[in-house]
Amino acid sequence: MMTKIINLFIKPSPPALAIRDHIVNYLVPQGFRISPVYLDHADYNLVIGGDGTFLHAVHKSQFSTIPFCGINTGTLGFFQESDLDSLDKNLKKLVEGDYHMDELLLVEAEVETSSWTYRRWCVNEFSVQSPKRKTVHFSLSVDQVPLLHLAGDGLIVSTPSGSTAYNLSAGGAILYQTLKGYQITPLNQLRSKTYEALPSSIVLPSSAETEVSFPPDEKDKALLVTDGVEEHFLGLKKITFRQTGKKIHRILFNSNWYWYNLKDKLI
Ligand code: NAP
Ligand code: MN
Repeated sequence: MMTKIINLFIKPSPPALAIRDHIVNYLVPQGFRISPVYLDHADYNLVIGGDGTFLHAVHKSQFSTIPFCGINTGTLGFFQESDLDSLDKNLKKLVEGDYHMDELLLVEAEVETSSWTYRRWCVNEFSVQSPKRKTVHFSLSVDQVPLLHLAGDGLIVSTPSGSTAYNLSAGGAILYQTLKGYQITPLNQLRSKTYEALPSSIVLPSSAETEVSFPPDEKDKALLVTDGVEEHFLGLKKITFRQTGKKIHRILFNSNWYWYNLKDKLI
């Protein structure tokens, strides 16, 4: 029997910890080794918790190319297919290799400041926001074409799999998780005649580059929030968003799961 290695990411919450022993007791006799520290030669990344735990696992593993398998003990679970009802059935499928693998595309942000250029990737979304509840002003270009100057609370740049999170709250559309491309959704735009405004969210193809540039007096104001984690870049000039093909792999046991999940959780 070939030993398979699992990297375990777990939320330290009572429901997550309660099923950990159950999972370990099932998998270890089947030849699995469970590692609490990340091993880059492992076969699977197993995540027990909510979507927040999934996001944390992806960032902590630096966008591991090892397939992620999610068990949901959180409130939503748009990344985490298995729940307490389907757990045993899905663990059996994992052991038997009876699953599909899909790919979730990330979005890259290239952050240009007066002193350095930084690169970040998101699973859900980036949001450009004002730190002090002031209006943030910026110009938006796509593929070098200047579209408009925008003012308001900011802008969300969401992946398809992140579309059911912050993007949805801000009025964006739900995109099927494995679509290629990304979506931009404004956050509370100013609507007076003085300002231009986007009439709706825009869904862009993977090949499109979206540029957000800041006027000089905004250079120390805006924040970049990556999957809920904020960073303040001083001397901010512009942020370019694009999809480069960087992705993560996710295990799926039921190929229609997305629609059942949507029906259960959002409708
Ligand atoms: P959090 O503030 O603890 O949780 C935000 C909520 O969003 C949780 O219920 C989480 O589910 C859910 N969620 C995360 N990713 C999702 C997805 N792809 N589809 C549907 N729901 C999703 O923060 P967190 O757990 O660290 O998650 C960070 C995310 O929070 C950000 O990426 C952003 O999308 C979201 N957020 C939303 C708003 C808003 O809607 N107004 C504001 C700020 C941040 P679990 O309970 O399963 O973790
Ligand atoms: Mn959370």
